[in-house]
Amino acid sequence: MDSFNNDLTEEQRLMKQSCRDFIDRVVSPFLRNDWQREWNMNPDERLPKEILKAADEISIRTLAVPEKYGGIELNSETEVRSFAIIAEEIARGDSGLADKLVQNWKVAVLLRNLAPEHLQKKWFTRLVEDHTFLLAHCLTEPKGASDRWLPYNVPEAAMDTMAQRVDGGWKINGRKQFISNGFDAGLYVVYANTKPGSGMLEGTSSFLVPRETPGLEVVRCNETIGCRFMNNGEIYFSDCFVPEDHLLCEGEALSKAAIYFRPGKIIQAAKNLGVGVAAFEKTSAFVQSYERGGKLLIKHQSVASRLADMATRITSVRTLLNQAALAVDTRSSDADALCNMAKVFASQEILKVCENALELHGGMGAMLDVGIEKLFRDASIFLHMDATVDISHFKIVKAMFPETAGKYAGPEN
Ligand SMILES: Cc1cc2nc3c(=O)[nH]c(=O)nc-3n(C[C@H](O)[C@H](O)[C@H](O)COP(=O)(O)OP(=O)(O)OC[C@H]3O[C@@H](n4cnc5c(N)ncnc54)[C@H](O)[C@@H]3O)c2cc1C
Repeated sequence: MDSFNNDLTEEQRLMKQSCRDFIDRVVSPFLRNDWQREWNMNPDERLPKEILKAADEISIRTLAVPEKYGGIELNSETEVRSFAIIAEEIARGDSGLADKLVQNWKVAVLLRNLAPEHLQKKWFTRLVEDHTFLLAHCLTEPKGASDRWLPYNVPEAAMDTMAQRVDGGWKINGRKQFISNGFDAGLYVVYANTKPGSGMLEGTSSFLVPRETPGLEVVRCNETIGCRFMNNGEIYFSDCFVPEDHLLCEGEALSKAAIYFRPGKIIQAAKNLGVGVAAFEKTSAFVQSYERGGKLLIKHQSVASRLADMATRITSVRTLLNQAALAVDTRSSDADALCNMAKVFASQEILKVCENALELHGGMGAMLDVGIEKLFRDASIFLHMDATVDISHFKIVKAMFPETAGKYAGPEN
């Protein structure tokens, strides 16, 4: 709908247009021609490197990297909204590809704020030069992520992954699971407990860990229901030594991670929206070209009603998303509540949009070569990324009522 584009800056309008061209010219034809590729069980072969190279040609792999290191720095006053606009366009083509790219932006924002200058220079330069280079953010571990998202600031909820100070640096031991880009990344931000016995808000530190560091092992690529081109991974750390300057934040890493989480929630909602837009575009084209009972599907009232429902949900998500992105860009006091609302609302509404798309395609909705079921699978994964629905609701209430909302459920005595 055009009214949503009226307020775009020139920078945003151009980025949106070049992303749309890239998706329509490169990504969508690639997916249409070889839909089985998603199911290749060799993750190294799943997404050809040429796609990342093509993404690089319009500079969308290195957004948020400072210009002095060769990246594309967006206008800082509207950066998060710009991330949202671009993420939506990429996910409209493929949400796994979008995951791969946005993870670089999110981690770049974190490094820009927390990494020492010489390491920014080293890693941002490498990121810019190598079009296959990806970044990852490792918080979740087998002990779970929800306690981290809330967070529950008590020792029982602290991470199992430990980092111990040793001569000249730190030794990390533990395991991180479900990590976006975890299988392919060249550089990881890793969270670990550095103060056993204290709560997470005081005892969690973050580290920069290059992939080739001895003691870091990528143990598996998780085979997921959707977003399959992202290559979600599990990483094991065994006496993994990093020098002192690789410590990004000591003790307060979870509080500092808001720099990453807020734009992160907006980007999640935007990718999710892109999946919904793809479902709507395909479905509206279908119902206007396919006949049953002697007339086009769209002329049947129940079909029209479902299409209207899809459009309404998409518009509602976009409205809330724009509001939340503005709040994050302007550092508004309701940014925390709004970015969680946008993320969780998008995950539930777009799943319903994709369910309607499946229904309106009839049996074709279930056929792998048609691609509608892929959108439904991709949409379903957003329920769990960057916090579950229930945890997101809890975070919204905590942001709105910080004095009275539950701080800690606690172990049962
Ligand atoms: C595709 C994908 C990509 C991901 N990428 C990353 C990544 O890049 N980096 C990263 O660190 N993590 C990543 N994750 C992990 C993701 O953040 C977590 O899976 C998610 O936050 C849920 O945590 P969990 O899986 O540990 O579930 P759990 O925390 O074990 O939760 C299980 C269930 O219990 C509920 N629950 C838990 N605690 C409470 C409570 N206090 N009150 C009520 N209900 C509760 C949850 O809502 C959920 O329903 C990714 C996950 C997916 C699926």
